[in-house]
Amino acid sequence: MQKEKIYRFHFEKFAEIELPRHRVREKYPWEDRMIGEFSKITKEHFRCRGSSHNPLRMSKDSANKEICLLDCGGIERHSLPTQGESETIYPILIDLLNHVQRRTERKVIVTCGHRCPIHNAYSDSSKGAQKSKHLIGAEVDFYVQGLEESPEKIVKVLMEYYENQGELSHFVRYEKDDAGLRIAPWYNKEIMIKLHQVDEGRDFDNRHPYPYITIELRYDRHSDRRVYMTWHRAFNGYMRW
Ligand SMILES: [Zn+2]
Repeated sequence: MQKEKIYRFHFEKFAEIELPRHRVREKYPWEDRMIGEFSKITKEHFRCRGSSHNPLRMSKDSANKEICLLDCGGIERHSLPTQGESETIYPILIDLLNHVQRRTERKVIVTCGHRCPIHNAYSDSSKGAQKSKHLIGAEVDFYVQGLEESPEKIVKVLMEYYENQGELSHFVRYEKDDAGLRIAPWYNKEIMIKLHQVDEGRDFDNRHPYPYITIELRYDRHSDRRVYMTWHRAFNGYMRW
């Protein structure tokens, strides 16, 4: 065996190896659309649930005459409410639902966002529904997967969103009978929160067996105006194709 000596100069030293540091991985583009393991709520969740595949429904008009109701063509035939040329849902509704997903770490199931006038009549032909803010995209119905039987917890989480927001953190109860609910809704300047129990508010979009929550927008902080449902907006505020 032949050996060979390795010589080093006195000024030579070992290469220094830096200790590995923990680095936070940058997000992949699709992860920006996620909250934990759930996709973020976006305006897409608010699209009209109507479908031309839904069967005819019999109902009664204001004169108690039997009428036959057809559903709308759904997303294949019309848009969300529009502002200018773009589809828009009030950002606060989207923020609130994402807040619920973040805080509860559970998936929010939107059962009804925007309803075009045809689907609104098909889904709920009651008189009260004719004034629904679903028609202008200012109302949303939902429940939370895994917390279906604890809607009060969700009401609390919604109120927490407004903590430290001055007058908006102040919620009061809506005690008038016209809400048609056994649990009096809560409202602040911006929203009203309604809790439907299992035997309340069972329209076509809410045929599931769970209690659910409705958030209705009362005031738009961006335009600094009250939010009203008007037939003009309901009928003309979206595109058809
Ligand atoms: Zn529709």
